[in-house]
Amino acid sequence: MARTKDPHAATVKAWKTRARNASNSGTTQQSGDFAALPPEVQHGVRLARTWPKERPWAATRERLASGVAGVRYNPNLQSEARNLGGRYEVGPKFFALDVGGREHVLYHELGHDLSDQMLRDGSAWGALDLLDTVDGYRELNGQTTPGEVVAEAYAQMRTDRIWLERRAPGLVRLVSERAAHYGFP
Ligand SMILES: [Zn+2]
Repeated sequence: MARTKDPHAATVKAWKTRARNASNSGTTQQSGDFAALPPEVQHGVRLARTWPKERPWAATRERLASGVAGVRYNPNLQSEARNLGGRYEVGPKFFALDVGGREHVLYHELGHDLSDQMLRDGSAWGALDLLDTVDGYRELNGQTTPGEVVAEAYAQMRTDRIWLERRAPGLVRLVSERAAHYGFP
């Protein structure tokens, strides 16, 4: 899935600096739990726990226009979806996907709230090392940066976990452990 305007890619450098600073101040290991998440992200994660029941990926534009479990339709959005920090917007392109694709996209966006936290605590920086080298570089579904790989792994674990366990068992362990640590569904 092309997310060419994903703002997260541009912030990787800033996060790297922040993770290094957190590491230097010795806060890397003890910073994590649900309370460590920004308040708006805590709110979004609480709503996302209802996704299996609310199924925002199966909702119509009309229902999503007023919002379903933190997911809202924005008719002007150019990408399939975007993360506003605990709130998730979907655009017209979202509805060109089948329901399984929409579910994957929403969990990818939620996965960015997890990856942001993992960039802060430093744990995301080893994510690429848990992938095999293919033709000389490491990628997961076309994603090549730590934040994107973690977000994509989180989504992949929701939609085809067995495939990812075969491909990168260490990545599944890392992302599962961190997701549980921070209270993500
Ligand atoms: Zn992304």
